[in-house]
Amino acid sequence: MRIGFMREMTPGERRIALTPQVAGKLIKLGADVVLESGAGASLGLSDAEFTALGATIADRQAILTGVDILLCVRRPDPAELRQVKAGTLVVGLFDPMFHPDGVQASIDQGLSVISMEYIPRTTRAQKMDVLSSQANLAGYVAVILGAERLDRILPMMMTPAGTIAPANVFIIGAGVAGLQAIATAHRLGARVTAFDTRPVVKEQVQSLGAKFLEIDLGETGQTAGGYATQLTPEQLALQKAGQAKQCAQSDLVITTAQLFGRKAPILIDAPMVAGMKPGSVIVDLAVETGGNVEGVRLNEEVITDNGVRLIGLGNLPGMVAAHASQMYAANLYNLLSEYWDKEQGFVLNLEDDILTSCVIVHQGSLRNDQIRGALENLATPAGKGA
Ligand code: NAD
Repeated sequence: MRIGFMREMTPGERRIALTPQVAGKLIKLGADVVLESGAGASLGLSDAEFTALGATIADRQAILTGVDILLCVRRPDPAELRQVKAGTLVVGLFDPMFHPDGVQASIDQGLSVISMEYIPRTTRAQKMDVLSSQANLAGYVAVILGAERLDRILPMMMTPAGTIAPANVFIIGAGVAGLQAIATAHRLGARVTAFDTRPVVKEQVQSLGAKFLEIDLGETGQTAGGYATQLTPEQLALQKAGQAKQCAQSDLVITTAQLFGRKAPILIDAPMVAGMKPGSVIVDLAVETGGNVEGVRLNEEVITDNGVRLIGLGNLPGMVAAHASQMYAANLYNLLSEYWDKEQGFVLNLEDDILTSCVIVHQGSLRNDQIRGALENLATPAGKGA
């Protein structure tokens, strides 16, 4: 079975789908691994580091048309997907709700697609869970980035010149990224407070040494998969009012609140930003799905009139691309090896609960109703090309 990967073409994407170590493990399983020359260059990895382990080099066109499985970080451009041989399995972060054009191209071309965002959040699938592996790194990077942009330090310091109080860090959303951000800020000596709409999180926040901000929103909950449910407009207003004072007292605010497959909620509006101290910093981790902060702009840093820095940099895991690739590649290996048969290679068993969730297209047929809605929107003149 031929497994290929290519250079990532998304601007600024430094992560790669396979590291030499994982390519070697796939070869040991019995796969032929083929890569485009320079596929590891963004991490300073030479072709020779892959070929030394038995991988081969081919040009991009040969990979698109000649492999059984194409591994990617981000989905290839739709125009490229339309060149992939029918029946090929493409595996990557397809982001189908925000970029349905890649799904449409895969359907038209008769491909199969595993969208890594749809790996279920179950115990058995944990080792394949790229949302967790990448969000964990994003939470760490958000704190380091925010700390670097502050004009003050995070820990308390008692010196002959006087005592410096610890910085106040406020984390909104305590999922995988938020919990890692709490742990990182706490380790750096900050005084950390956090909030999440899922009440089950309170204990996890406290066990990491942070304070949980209590806001009574009435009935909130989570889906069977553990994701937050959308708040009503009244609940959102209550949340904003409850957070305003905490934001005003904070030096660094990190927002991570997402709703799977939907636009992120605005949790910090312009008056709340206006109430914050000059020199304070907000890092918005939800910026790629619309942002949690009013005024934040994707891939930009904005300084407001009152001197608050809004950081909207996307792809934070890509800032630590070596470790992000190591974890991403390991997630892919764990997925492929779980269903590997010595004779047949990767067996796509649609009865399996993990595969039934993450195989969003099978030989040109769409298998996910949530994505069907996004595709219908793409087909209407207003939604076309959006
Ligand atoms: P996510 O990225 O979808 O959202 C981040 C956090 O934002 C979540 O904790 C969510 O509750 C929170 N949020 C949403 N709206 C909010 C609001 N208005 N205000 C404040 N916070 C808000 O979440 P995630 O990190 O991907 O985790 C989703 C779930 O999956 C969690 O329950 C997590 O524990 C679970 N999970 C399970 C496994 C597993 O069992 N294998 C692995 C990873 C994650």
